[in-house]
Amino acid sequence: MKIPKERPEKYKGLKRDFAEEEYINLQPIQRGGILTEEAMRAILEFGDGYSTCDWCPPKTARLDMITSPPIQDFYKDLAEFLGMDVARVVTRCREAKFIAFKMLGRPGDYVVLDSTAHYSSYIAAELAEMKVKEVPNSGPPEFRVDLNEYATKIEEVKKECGRLPAAVLLTHVDYLYGNLNDARIVSKIAREYGVPFILNCAYTAGVMPVDGRELGADIITSSGHKSWAASAPTGILAFNRSLEDKLTARSKIEGDLTKRKFGAKELAMLGCTVMGAPLITLMASFPEVVSRVERWGEEIEKVRYLVSELERIEGVRQLGMRPKLHTLTHMETEGFYKISLKHKRKGFFLYDELRERKIVGIQPGLTKHFKFNTYGLTWEQIRYVRDAFFDIAKKYGLGIS
Ligand SMILES: *Cc1c(COP(=O)(O)O)cnc(C)c1O
Repeated sequence: MKIPKERPEKYKGLKRDFAEEEYINLQPIQRGGILTEEAMRAILEFGDGYSTCDWCPPKTARLDMITSPPIQDFYKDLAEFLGMDVARVVTRCREAKFIAFKMLGRPGDYVVLDSTAHYSSYIAAELAEMKVKEVPNSGPPEFRVDLNEYATKIEEVKKECGRLPAAVLLTHVDYLYGNLNDARIVSKIAREYGVPFILNCAYTAGVMPVDGRELGADIITSSGHKSWAASAPTGILAFNRSLEDKLTARSKIEGDLTKRKFGAKELAMLGCTVMGAPLITLMASFPEVVSRVERWGEEIEKVRYLVSELERIEGVRQLGMRPKLHTLTHMETEGFYKISLKHKRKGFFLYDELRERKIVGIQPGLTKHFKFNTYGLTWEQIRYVRDAFFDIAKKYGLGIS
């Protein structure tokens, strides 16, 4: 197939929508994935295709065995940092969940999960040919997951199919309201039933302290591009020794003609996972990640301050549990919504007003509710964001108490 010569021209000189240095970006999924300078340099060094594979050991030919660059050490350090025994870097948090479901259960099995779980938790279960049983939440305004109900749901599964669910999954901090769930309540229930407990730390590990041992997690999943200052795609699958045989089961297939076998390869990793620049960004940012989680307390002070200031605006209130225990925040903003009804740009007016003030990341078109994430903003930037919202509120006649 030939395509017209001019068509590929548009892929030259690609530019992002905004320059990260000139704008304050409040986009919830992007705050924890901003690269460190070390990671940026690493991209230049390791940008080529299979750049991690110069010293792949011939016998065990596997990513986690490579010692230059020090991938093998990194996997050990990563596991230890999370309070787990073993770690693998995979392409995304959702892949980590899929691997866990696939290797722990059989088609038709259930996964019990919280009703604020990310869509990718559902889809990972679907691809593993499993069903889900949801644990309810309180609804507005808190949307608090009823953690003790995990026991009820496990019982329901048991009654319905005569066996236990393949796994229990809890979203440590959900992507909707930024609620922090107490993992210990669920790990205790899961342990009583002997069901593996997966803690999905996409929004927590890498930005705040997470100790799998303390929380009772059997498996931790996380997202490098969301919370570890790494490029996409990177995900983390960490687990305890007791599940190692299941999760790292080796390939058994044999060629019918050639009798070729690949017994060194880990089946669920399809042999190797992230064999280039994204893995190296995760490694290059790791020293900073290890130290930044210790500064989480200040991140919480900043978000609480901004929430309390924004709630001074007429018709603005924070949804989800109070006080904030995470920087991802969901605001209900009736005041801005009322303005949008009369504005010629409708719901886009708020985006326009913010962008004019060099703030991006509030989803264009939304005014009734919106989400933001203050992770990593300086106090000066926090005050700047507050002033911008006050300014817009005043411009359209909303009261500020
Ligand atoms: C963002 C998010 C994910 C998806 O992470 P990927 O690495 O992009 O797969 C999964 N779970 C939760 C709770 C998230 O917030």
